[in-house]
Amino acid sequence: MKRVYSGIRATGRLHLGNYFGAVKGMLALQDTYDCIFSVVDLHAITTPYAPSSLQNSVREIIIDFLAAGLDPKKCHLEIQSKIPQHTELAYLLSTIYPVSRLEDLPTYKDKKAQYPKYVNMGLLYYPVLMAADVLLYKGELVPVGIDQEPHLEVMREIARKFNSMFGHPSTGSGSSTFPEPQRFKTEGEYVPSLTGKGKMSKTVDGSYINLTDDLAVIKKKLAAVPTDSGTIGGDLPKEGGVASLFVMMKLFKQENEYRKFENDYKNKTIRYSELKEVLTQGVYKELKPFQEKRKTLLDNPSLVDSIIADGQKECMEMAEETMKEVRQKMGFA
Ligand code: ADP
Repeated sequence: MKRVYSGIRATGRLHLGNYFGAVKGMLALQDTYDCIFSVVDLHAITTPYAPSSLQNSVREIIIDFLAAGLDPKKCHLEIQSKIPQHTELAYLLSTIYPVSRLEDLPTYKDKKAQYPKYVNMGLLYYPVLMAADVLLYKGELVPVGIDQEPHLEVMREIARKFNSMFGHPSTGSGSSTFPEPQRFKTEGEYVPSLTGKGKMSKTVDGSYINLTDDLAVIKKKLAAVPTDSGTIGGDLPKEGGVASLFVMMKLFKQENEYRKFENDYKNKTIRYSELKEVLTQGVYKELKPFQEKRKTLLDNPSLVDSIIADGQKECMEMAEETMKEVRQKMGFA
């Protein structure tokens, strides 16, 4: 059965970007494929973080996964740092990939600009570790947002290079070890920031709505989205706060409301306070069942503990199987 792998960094609570870009894809795939879904805590420490809250963030994301509908009977849940084979494979793969390609990646350049005083080796290494994450399980499909496409390309290059250098243990070629993973696309592969600039991200303040936000918080966050005078008219803008609001209406399936406000925009009669109220209700309606399920999980910590323990055992076995093959092919066994 085809393997699927996806991970979310433990840098804060899940937001609508993670939900539409990644979690919706995970939910769509868990019934049909052999899926491994991970909290990638090793990736979380490449940008400034608080060690004292890291473990809590990890657990909260596992709970978010479960509340969103990931079912441990259908998929394997993993905490990346608990499976040391990730870092072992990442190091081995790093020896066959050029530094210059990593330095050119837009994601690396963005993070460098965002944290000029925190440009570390781990940040540069991020795509190599991510390639190892997926290849460790021989993942073929990766449900992630469009922001991750450059990393998918790196992954495929590494898989290709490994296969050509070490494909067969004795001849160095012939059989392929790793598949070339493809991104599984969702309708919400790019959720724009509430600030109107760039993508919604956990590490950009004011950019996101968390899945745990209540009605009042959603209202407040949407009220802060920058708009215009409402008298511009013509076609809807492609970027900025107004564009973000319209994208979100579409993602929350408010098609009729979308058309109404689009017409209002054209006719210069749009009232953003009205639009924001409609959107607030739409967001809250979708998040309410998630929030209720989350409460029941918080009341049952031993269930969460056992789900984490089971996931770790299953993943460890799969990971070790790949590593045995890799060690042998690279000359370590
Ligand atoms: P963040 O940037 O918020 O820290 P992560 O890097 O942990 O998010 O990404 C977790 C997953 O969520 C990835 O699959 C990523 O592609 C997806 N994702 C993150 N932000 C968005 C967004 N704004 N739109 C769509 N998908 C997103």
